[in-house]
Amino acid sequence: MQTEPQNQPWIRREPLIIIGSGPAAWTAAVYAARANLNPVVYEGEASREMIPGGQLMFTTDIENFPGFPEGIGGQELMERMRAQAIRFGTRVVSENITTVDFSHHPHRFVTSGGSEVRALASIVATGARANWLGLSNEERLARSGGGVSACAVCDGALPFFRDKRLFVAGGGDSAMEEATYLSKYASEVVIVHRRDAFRASKVMVDRALANPKIRVQWNTRILDVLGDDFITGLRVEDTATGCPADLEGSGLFVAIGHTPNTEFLRGQIALSPSGYVETPSPWRTCTSVPGVFAAGDVMDAYYRQAITAAGTGCMAALEAERWLAHHHVPGAEPPMLETVDAPTLLERESGV
Ligand SMILES: Cc1cc2nc3c(=O)[nH]c(=O)nc-3n(C[C@H](O)[C@H](O)[C@H](O)COP(=O)(O)OP(=O)(O)OC[C@H]3O[C@@H](n4cnc5c(N)ncnc54)[C@H](O)[C@@H]3O)c2cc1C
Repeated sequence: MQTEPQNQPWIRREPLIIIGSGPAAWTAAVYAARANLNPVVYEGEASREMIPGGQLMFTTDIENFPGFPEGIGGQELMERMRAQAIRFGTRVVSENITTVDFSHHPHRFVTSGGSEVRALASIVATGARANWLGLSNEERLARSGGGVSACAVCDGALPFFRDKRLFVAGGGDSAMEEATYLSKYASEVVIVHRRDAFRASKVMVDRALANPKIRVQWNTRILDVLGDDFITGLRVEDTATGCPADLEGSGLFVAIGHTPNTEFLRGQIALSPSGYVETPSPWRTCTSVPGVFAAGDVMDAYYRQAITAAGTGCMAALEAERWLAHHHVPGAEPPMLETVDAPTLLERESGV
């Protein structure tokens, strides 16, 4: 790894940047700001698939985040986390990080606004986003507002979908949650599932199946979305018999999992085959690049919960703090715990 000369004042240099804006990023920011690391959070821009604040911005009641016995709305929880980070001095930039270069230190980051920032350490907490089925009419009708969506909480209450039969594609927790949410507005919700059993957790399945407005179309593969300007139904086939059929309906909500937001990291850091940032040491957030840490759903394809994202955000901030302290960064707090496996930059570069 090459080190950069210090005399380029037009490029901002930061001790620590945090990329993302979900529970992992804001928790990391709270810890880093309280440790006087003066972090800056790149919270991202709103797009069709992502929104600053992360996935919880797309849901209503969070009942499993400790500290809120009555539950709390997803947007309110994220606003509170953001405010808590800002209270301790976190700076926030509402841009995406689009390119990174980890071959030089300090690492280089380019934002969607076109500026460049360099940082001694960074935490990647960019989460994950919804997957699509890949049908020929699905994307077209999703983009045109023709009745295809990947977010019930964003779109389900629109007049377009009210008192209509709506489909939900999928069989996991997201599908159960989307169907339950949509049942508040729709005349009927049909969960279309390729198999004869769900992989969702039992509590979510039980809640969905107990809802009189929800029914399940088992063993059914969606072949396409019907309709020119607006969805009129689905073309499906029975996965057991191969028989095709058309189902009438006025909306499709796709709930088939997520893709980690790591495109901007490709070639710069070790990713798993499915694109998650690899954190090779158990119970650690360090990545294949010294000084780069990862937290939340972007490195966790297993738990995918707000509390685990927040927990790993805490871990990443503590690890970044120790890493910076071990590298004699002015202003960084001394490490809270000595780590025998954290060589200094000098030691690493000289191969000691
Ligand atoms: C519908 C739904 C309901 C859920 N309900 C619950 C629940 O009740 N309880 C629970 O514990 N969990 C729930 N989850 C899961 C929970 O939302 C996630 O586990 C959690 O949000 C992951 O947090 P994160 O910090 O890893 O990132 P995310 O929440 O995924 O946020 C990351 C954000 O970072 C930003 N970003 C991405 N790329 C960039 C970039 N290049 N530059 C800058 N910013 C970027 C984007 O705004 C992105 O949204 C739910 C998820 C969904 C989809």
